[in-house]
Amino acid sequence: MEVCFWGVRGSIPTPPTSEDLRNKITRVLELAAGIDISTAEKREQFLSGLSEKELGFIGGNTPCVELKVKDKIFIFDMGTGLREFGNDLLKRLPKEQQHIELHIFIGHTHWDHVQGFPFFVPAYRNNVELHFYFVHPQVKERLEIQQDYRFFPVAMEFMASKKHFHQIENNSQFMIDDIVIKTTELNHPGKCFAYRVEYEGKSFIYASDGEYNYLPSSRINKFIEFYDKADMLVFDAPFSFSEEIEKINWGHSSALLGIDLSVKAKVKELILFHHAPENDDEAVFQLLQTAEEYREKNYSSSPLEVLLARERMKITI
Ligand SMILES: [Zn+2]
Ligand SMILES: [Zn+2]
Repeated sequence: MEVCFWGVRGSIPTPPTSEDLRNKITRVLELAAGIDISTAEKREQFLSGLSEKELGFIGGNTPCVELKVKDKIFIFDMGTGLREFGNDLLKRLPKEQQHIELHIFIGHTHWDHVQGFPFFVPAYRNNVELHFYFVHPQVKERLEIQQDYRFFPVAMEFMASKKHFHQIENNSQFMIDDIVIKTTELNHPGKCFAYRVEYEGKSFIYASDGEYNYLPSSRINKFIEFYDKADMLVFDAPFSFSEEIEKINWGHSSALLGIDLSVKAKVKELILFHHAPENDDEAVFQLLQTAEEYREKNYSSSPLEVLLARERMKITI
């Protein structure tokens, strides 16, 4: 399986500001102090030694994650990252490809998870077939409302792609070829659903958005069961520990809780996702550092890896 992150911010798109760029440049200049960067080669050498934190941005698009499983392309949520995925897809596929099939899994229909669809260029092509999977009722209608003429100039019916809407049940399991997909409900206002994909002994879980505070232990145990031994868990973690205590019923979680659950469930790789719009890159990296210290202090023997989701980050499972 190959995973690519196209949108990793929650709630609203958060493009980096000029001030953010200036802060990064300042940091790089500090690191360059005393180093000979007088030639292009020496500058290249210096830059190649810098971390991703210094050299790039986490990204400002809202949730969209691509998962390639054998010859299939799965998409989880249609935040603004979907637009960039669509443009990239059309570039990377051979021009002569007659038929493009995509499987889109919708966790819920809060704006940040569907607002990329009207800008998804492949949806306007008649050689594209889209399969939507969801648990909420009337998802087709919800998407149509998003493209009502009062909110968007092109109605969904004018998008030329062929669309299939697959209503699935909570806690159900189904197959696409020999790929297994399972779903379970997350604790979030208006409900949200996580998806688990299993293929040839590997497993990927997309679990954004969800809150775990004050849930009965029976419900927590169900999550631990659902996350059991996942190779990758994409986890809703915009909050710091204190925010998690303050923001009850907001429907989101923290890296620390993600670590507790992942260690219990023996997850291999925890991906911190749905970064808060009020946190700049520096603040998000700070949350990662706190998370790493927490893991080290409480679960030093655990092999769990904790990573930040960053736009266009690619990982092979
Ligand atoms: Zn969200
Ligand atoms: Zn939400």
